[in-house]
Amino acid sequence: MTEQTPKIVYRFGNNVYLNITNRCPNLCVFCIKTKWKMDFHGNNLNLSGNEPSALELLQALEDELKKAPFNEVVFCGYGEPTMRLEVLLYVAQTLKGWQAQAKFPPFKIRLNTNGLGARINHKPIVSDLRRVIDIVNVSVNAENAAKWRELVRPEAAYEDAYDDVVSFLQDCVDAGFEKVILSCVENTGADTQALAKLAEQTKSTLYVRSFLDEDN
Ligand code: SF4
Repeated sequence: MTEQTPKIVYRFGNNVYLNITNRCPNLCVFCIKTKWKMDFHGNNLNLSGNEPSALELLQALEDELKKAPFNEVVFCGYGEPTMRLEVLLYVAQTLKGWQAQAKFPPFKIRLNTNGLGARINHKPIVSDLRRVIDIVNVSVNAENAAKWRELVRPEAAYEDAYDDVVSFLQDCVDAGFEKVILSCVENTGADTQALAKLAEQTKSTLYVRSFLDEDN
């Protein structure tokens, strides 16, 4: 049963996830936050507009990380993390410090993003992210702009943003993150062969996830 108190930090598999916002300029046809009523495997991720501060996130994170081993700390949640870029960068910077101090066994810091962060923040963000994030997963989701609009249903201000998503992916590869993932969802009508080609061209790694899969 879903807990009433929203989770700002939760576990899934071997990873620990941060739920920093529910806001997102997209309304993807496959987004499970609607289908699962803001629940994720028994975790209530509905922040109800009360977004956690960086200090609240770090306190909850430290408590969780002490409990059991983990491989990655992932900025994900039911929302787009770059909507809160300053909080994201502050928390990730602290995590980098914990990595450097070996406060916990070796782990990676991953960002799952819809690739709209530069548009959302009206400035380039890749170099700031590069300093504090190890792995970036960009949900490209479609092989062209028309299919992207159909699948991610962006707000009007972002309807022309497919090329920006692909540019963000390429910028991340060029910036030298440890790994850059191009992700999409199976059985949505996206052409996974064309996306595999795009991954090859951009030198990113294709990840096709199942429709109701783990970390979107
Ligand atoms: S980008 Fe992510 S959070 Fe936003 S609507 Fe799509 S699946 Fe949901």
